[in-house]
Amino acid sequence: MSSPQLKLPTIQNWNCHNCSGCCRQHEIEITPEEKERIEKQRWDEDASIPAGQPVFVKIGFSPMGNRYRLAHQADGACIFLDEKGLCRIHAKFGEPAKPLACQVYPYAFHPAGNDVAVSLRFSCPSVVSNLGQPVSQQSAAIRKIVEQVLPKRHKTPPAPPLTARETLGWPDTLKVVDSLDQFFASSDTRFLINLLRAVAWVELIEQSRFEAIRGTRMGEFLELISQATVQELPGDLELNRTAPSRLGSIQFRLLAAQYARKDTFAEDSRGMLRRFSLLMSAVKFASGRGDIPRLQDRFKSVPFSQLDESFGELPPECEKLFNRYYRVKIEGLHFFGAAYYDIHFVEGFYHLALMFPAMMWISRWLAVGAGRSVLLPEDVKEAMSIADHHHGYSPVFGLPHFRSRVRNLSRTQDIKKLITWYGQ
Ligand code: SF4
Repeated sequence: MSSPQLKLPTIQNWNCHNCSGCCRQHEIEITPEEKERIEKQRWDEDASIPAGQPVFVKIGFSPMGNRYRLAHQADGACIFLDEKGLCRIHAKFGEPAKPLACQVYPYAFHPAGNDVAVSLRFSCPSVVSNLGQPVSQQSAAIRKIVEQVLPKRHKTPPAPPLTARETLGWPDTLKVVDSLDQFFASSDTRFLINLLRAVAWVELIEQSRFEAIRGTRMGEFLELISQATVQELPGDLELNRTAPSRLGSIQFRLLAAQYARKDTFAEDSRGMLRRFSLLMSAVKFASGRGDIPRLQDRFKSVPFSQLDESFGELPPECEKLFNRYYRVKIEGLHFFGAAYYDIHFVEGFYHLALMFPAMMWISRWLAVGAGRSVLLPEDVKEAMSIADHHHGYSPVFGLPHFRSRVRNLSRTQDIKKLITWYGQ
């Protein structure tokens, strides 16, 4: 099979700025080959690693044998991160000597028919701030990484389902994705309108039957429902804040709490005390009364009620930031199928749409903690980086109870209410 084409994001810049954030917040699982390679690097003889300190930790067992990750230092940073915030493996042996996961981050690669769609993780602050060269000009370097990630004799996987009932095949699925992307390409309308239009349009996709409109008629159909959506939600529409239902609020707080956490699902199961404390904070999040349990050191203790006040309009810089976030995730197919717990397009987009109120809720928590009742772009950027750390990576979002929470929020029309409630 010929080498796949890369579908690169159109509006994203990125280069590594050595902030070392990724080496502090991720667990790096390594393959048996990577373990062997690092063992041959003889870190047991290197004075920079304390004598007797293991550089791997066993994390379980698979049919292929034991599973390992890189060990952490006392502060949670990777064992190979030095005091200047640089990687010891990279410094001593060059980038290709690092585990592949470290070379890939913050990119994410997903099948798009015969091609590979490239997305980025906004847990990286340089991605959030759009720092570096345009990604579209870095195809040669990205291709080298993709070649390592793709199995040697890979086959084009089937297209993921579009809805709970139908799967269209890659060409039509990609047309649907392109049409969705167009809602965020418009800089004439407010981001809130763009997102509400996209949700309303996906609801129409969910209600449609595609047996008779595949192939040539697909483009016409998509254009038709896009026009209907724009007429329904014109650019000058005045948006009122609409409170979500009581049940919707509970379900949303539980979801937002999951996005606000630092750790991953893997850590949830460690220790009875930890599980008990998670249960107690879940009870508080469900009640929504009193102070919010501090899920990370960076959050201050503030009342739930303060996050439900109006915070005014989105800072103008954040309009662009959110449009870019949604375009990168949509163009990179980073919300359904293989990239997102094998969930179909419609449900995957509902999860992605809920990222906005979740990020805004976390931004408000940061702002209130700093004694402010208006948001600064820095609050929103930090919240985006916190929440996107989990998007598609914390297995909890693919579990049946979480998926059913998102489906309920969509059925009760609470997703749109949450967007207007926390968006202004
Ligand atoms: S191996 Fe190097 S790049 Fe990978 S997490 Fe550790 S310090 Fe960071």
